[in-house]
Amino acid sequence: MLRSHSCGELRLENVNQEVKLAGWVQRVRNKGGLIWVDLRDRYGVTQLIFEEGSTDKALLEKAAQLGREFVVQASGVVIERTSKNDKIPTGSIEVKVAELTVLNPAKVPPFIIEDETDGGDDLRMKYRYLDLRRGVVREKLQLRHRMMQETRKYMDAEDFIEVETPVLIKSTPEGARDFVVPSRVNPGEFYALPQSPQTFKQLLMVSGFDRYFQIVKCFRDEDLRADRQPEFTQIDCEMSFVEQEDILSTFEGLTKHLFREVKGVELEEVKRMTFADAMKYYGNDKPDVRFDMKFVELNEVAQGKGFGIFDSAELVVGICPKGAAEYTRKQLDALTEWVKRPQIGAKGLVYVKYNADGSLKSTVDKFFDQEALGAWAEKFGAEPGDLMLVLSGDTKTVRKQLSELRLKMGEDLGLRDRSVFKPLWVVDFPLFEWDDETNRFHAMHHPFTSPKKEDIALLETDPGAVRANAYDLVINGVEIGGGSIRIHDKATQKLMFKHLGFTDEEAQKQFGFLMEAFEYGAPPHGGIAFGFDRLCAIFGGSDSIRDYIAFPKNNSGRDVMIDSPSTIADDQLEELSIKVDLKS
Ligand code: ASP
Repeated sequence: MLRSHSCGELRLENVNQEVKLAGWVQRVRNKGGLIWVDLRDRYGVTQLIFEEGSTDKALLEKAAQLGREFVVQASGVVIERTSKNDKIPTGSIEVKVAELTVLNPAKVPPFIIEDETDGGDDLRMKYRYLDLRRGVVREKLQLRHRMMQETRKYMDAEDFIEVETPVLIKSTPEGARDFVVPSRVNPGEFYALPQSPQTFKQLLMVSGFDRYFQIVKCFRDEDLRADRQPEFTQIDCEMSFVEQEDILSTFEGLTKHLFREVKGVELEEVKRMTFADAMKYYGNDKPDVRFDMKFVELNEVAQGKGFGIFDSAELVVGICPKGAAEYTRKQLDALTEWVKRPQIGAKGLVYVKYNADGSLKSTVDKFFDQEALGAWAEKFGAEPGDLMLVLSGDTKTVRKQLSELRLKMGEDLGLRDRSVFKPLWVVDFPLFEWDDETNRFHAMHHPFTSPKKEDIALLETDPGAVRANAYDLVINGVEIGGGSIRIHDKATQKLMFKHLGFTDEEAQKQFGFLMEAFEYGAPPHGGIAFGFDRLCAIFGGSDSIRDYIAFPKNNSGRDVMIDSPSTIADDQLEELSIKVDLKS
């Protein structure tokens, strides 16, 4: 071994011991006759000391020539520090070096490799392997590792079997574009990378595996955001002979296990909310329930008073931020501007201040007297000191706008505390979702999701009203996972494809294998998948999943470190029978 201890290990108990450390030079402080070196490895930082008089001259000179990020080995004795540093676990000791070997010098790094760095995002992405040396970044991957181990521990104890499924497959519809891979030996034919292992895990149920899980890479070619990467990781699961309730309780169990073991947090029972209520009260299928501020519908009290904008609206709806009546005119104007930005798209914002003296002051006083505004306040359950913010328009649009405003108010009022965790099951999702662009229904979850028995009759008459046996796990307003009880008979699966606009031939070509499998004794089954990167980000208190991925892609789906994607050689293209014809 090149070392006897790690750089995070030595304490006062080790004083007087002879030790050998190896690591990277984080910092050198040269005070002439006295040199300190911070030596870093994965486990921490230990201070090395070289002192004139007790250290021989050649050694002192060698130490003086160390540069940042040199890889060195140092042997010496552990001594107690005169001035201790209580910010690091090794802060009470230092190592008085007797022998120093440079194992490998280093070029000057492009940014400072410490928790506080001067490197911008792009630079750190290009030199990600250096960024990963920083403690704050490394800790995120360590958290991810813990989450992975604890997931496997829980799943194994619950009798789940981890099975790997192939990466070169055929399209699995999860609502995104596929990444495709050309086949050299089958010219003109392509594999698709899995958007999820959905069909394979269902086939494993037909095989009798009964409880499957996999921590698995999935690939979706869609527009990127802070919480999206073209390749990401799921905790993917499937179970046989179960109902929705069994899946919810098993994965509530996993969620609680992870919070307990990794964060030391005891979660309360996970609340449930129907999709319909989530939309009505939060305007969102992934409500942040760390705070209340529910939507209140006001049509009854706000329409018919001569205010045209309200009268012509399908929905007049508002929120009541508690204690916000003290918002100044300037703050309220800023809020109005905020909802009018194109990203939100509201035409305006009506507000009512419920003043401490009990009077009500609104932007629509011309149409609503104190009594009329009093009726609003009653609907809101408002008290003096509260603010009421009201939007109007068509139901779908106005709910979306108000949902954004609610989240903003929650943020502004400090109600979205990152150390508070409020998971929620959203259940009874619609089976279909209407798509204005293509002018037809799409599967809201995916085409293998079963409709609720009691809604099957509606399939022919009112498909938009059919509810699915589908559920999402939401934590603090972030969708962490989703799944469903599946269709397990050929007839229903065929009917589903028909409603999704597939011809028999198309359905057969794409999913014939699954429908055939359903004819060989498919058990009732269902499952779920958690977005693992997002779950890690929530645990780490971060909005971006990128930090929790060792080698992430940037916003254009590019890995700037290895410079990918990139062109390939002409003969490689020829071998694949591919001609590139760029339009622009
Ligand atoms: N395959 C689904 C997804 O990736 C999850 C599931 O239905 O189990 O969202």
